[in-house]
Amino acid sequence: MPEFDIHSPLEELFFPLLREKEIRLFIKRDDMIHPFISGNKWRKLKYNLLRAEAENKDHLVTFGGVWSNHLLATACAAARFGLKATAFVRGEDINTESMVLCRLFGMQLRFTDRESYRDKRALFNSAFAGDSSVLFVDEGGAGTEGIKGCAELADELPEDYDHVFCAAGTGTTAAGIIQGLTARGFNAKVNVVPVLKGAEFIEEEISKLTDAGFNFVPAYHFGGYAKTQPELLEFIRNFSSATGILLDPVYTGKMMYAVFDLVKKGVFAPGSRILTIHTGGLFGLLGMKDRFFMLPG
Ligand SMILES: *Cc1c(COP(=O)(O)O)cnc(C)c1O
Repeated sequence: MPEFDIHSPLEELFFPLLREKEIRLFIKRDDMIHPFISGNKWRKLKYNLLRAEAENKDHLVTFGGVWSNHLLATACAAARFGLKATAFVRGEDINTESMVLCRLFGMQLRFTDRESYRDKRALFNSAFAGDSSVLFVDEGGAGTEGIKGCAELADELPEDYDHVFCAAGTGTTAAGIIQGLTARGFNAKVNVVPVLKGAEFIEEEISKLTDAGFNFVPAYHFGGYAKTQPELLEFIRNFSSATGILLDPVYTGKMMYAVFDLVKKGVFAPGSRILTIHTGGLFGLLGMKDRFFMLPG
């Protein structure tokens, strides 16, 4: 089995606003772990891959949409680790850049109407009941294995921070990071930025998974999952052109926007040290290229 070389660089970001407010801002570049097994998805897959190996399973079956970073990561990881991969994909077969890459990595795609997609266990059983070679991997890599892998991010940090910021879809990554920081005895307050509307369930889920407190920051979903507004797109363009680091409009763009907005509002005491987690997943950008094209300036 190839090695699990998961260790991403950490960089400091410099902006006039940060100097003015006396804030030091850092970014954990999980987007650099691997170009396709990107960011938190690598961390979330790690213990699923080890479990497949331990249980002699050679086939990963999972779920996602046509732009899913998780499907792309699973397809590439399966290829690299010599496993088969099948995905139940929500909706019609539209040939997105992500689906092209999944196909190239040998993933079998089963396009599924939205109604049947809701019950993942039933879908799984309809095709794979009783097949002992298959490992069920939940949508987005959510679950115990995912949390365990994400907790390891904390072990790579050189020091404690005042705040950590992380985007949340299912909350698995955030829960793992909170657990990892707690296990290391760090005091950093984790700020969870949900990228969808009506995300209170994420707050509840994370609360169930950890005793440590965290801040839930639900004001930056920009209308809902994969929804954007011009000021978000503009922020991403400004950030990327100032740093050489890309952000995607679905996850990390919203998280980073939240950080800068809160810094601007003076929420953090001067001298605060803030760590942002770049959870990767940049392919989402390509699904929104027209929106960027429409941006004035
Ligand atoms: C999947 C994904 C997330 C969400 O992770 P959860 O563990 O589901 O909260 C965040 N950022 C990026 C870039 C992702 O691809």
